[in-house]
Amino acid sequence: MTVAGKTERVLVLNSGSSSVKYALFIGEERLASGIVERIGEPGSPVADHEAALDIVAGELADRNLGIDSPELTAIGHRVVHGGTDFTEPTLITDEVTAKIEELVPLAPLHNPGNLAGIEVTRRLRPDLPQVAVFDTAFHSTISPAAATYAIDRKLAERLRIRRYGFHGTSHAYVSREAAALVGRPGCNVIVLHLGNGASASAVSGGRCLETSMGMTPLEGLVMGTRSGDLDPGVLLYLARTGGMSFDEIDTLVNRESGMRGLCGENDMRTVQERLAAKDPDAELAFSVYCHRLRKYVGAYYAVLGVVDVIAFTGGVGENSPLVRQTTLDGLEALGIAVDPERNRRGKGVISPDGTAVKVAVIPTNEELEITRQTLAILPRTKRP
Ligand code: ADP
Repeated sequence: MTVAGKTERVLVLNSGSSSVKYALFIGEERLASGIVERIGEPGSPVADHEAALDIVAGELADRNLGIDSPELTAIGHRVVHGGTDFTEPTLITDEVTAKIEELVPLAPLHNPGNLAGIEVTRRLRPDLPQVAVFDTAFHSTISPAAATYAIDRKLAERLRIRRYGFHGTSHAYVSREAAALVGRPGCNVIVLHLGNGASASAVSGGRCLETSMGMTPLEGLVMGTRSGDLDPGVLLYLARTGGMSFDEIDTLVNRESGMRGLCGENDMRTVQERLAAKDPDAELAFSVYCHRLRKYVGAYYAVLGVVDVIAFTGGVGENSPLVRQTTLDGLEALGIAVDPERNRRGKGVISPDGTAVKVAVIPTNEELEITRQTLAILPRTKRP
């Protein structure tokens, strides 16, 4: 990735509500990365995003890689919600930040932090191209049949209620790597991104056809602390009969559900330790987690018709042979199998030779994907 002999340097920022993660790339190589946490929390030395980015600037300057460096080509910002406005990486202008602001009601936990980071870096480096890369963008290709909730259409349109999907940069990166693995860009891939948040997608020829997160990241798979799919009647019942407020329900389904709700623990490593000790709560939690995942594999098999690759990624997907094995156990009739030794090793293809579907472990790299997408739009705009 060089232009006129100069290797591109991109600073990637993931500026959340209470943390800023950063990574600096030269070409495809990650030179530095880090995280500043506890922004704005009581007793924290980091008062706001300005202070957090000061720390980031300081850490990079210590290594002669500062934000003020003339060598920097661009800054790529992760932005969670792009609504239907943003379906590709977008050069940030005042108009773009205003639109991201308009989307705050759809992502009240995420877009404000993203915007705060953008505002500070635009002030620090007004000369530099800054690009917003949206978590929703990769999923903008899902059909109306997949995107539409079966509720009153006028109401849904007025309030922008539809399925958007998230983790898009990860699904884009991993599905492309999966296609490279089988050497066919046109292939069909099921991506299972299993981190603290978790989502699945069905991708055909690089286009996303389905994804498990919806209008918010709450829908779909069982996650660390989020419930995933839930009968909407449960929420009504919690309010009406359980006497819970909206905020209490919000906290329950976002922070106190999923694996934490089921067994008190959201870290899959600890869940697995407890499984080994035959802890019944951990056993139930683990079985609910894998059962839900297996249902989605079946559903996306049907969406795609033919599956070439099933790719596991994210902290759990990359590191838990037990989740991979349990989820895909007994699916030989669908051409799906996991080789125990390859699964234990956990790198690349983990299915036996000769099965119709390749099962693979593919580490995600969202920061590299943001770097690539940031650089990809620069030739159409301004290069320094
Ligand atoms: P995030 O979604 O916050 O980016 P990660 O993708 O890093 O998170 O995934 C975090 C999850 O990965 C945690 O639940 C953690 O327990 C799990 N994890 C990390 N290492 C292992 C492991 N060796 N075995 C099982 N789970 C693991």
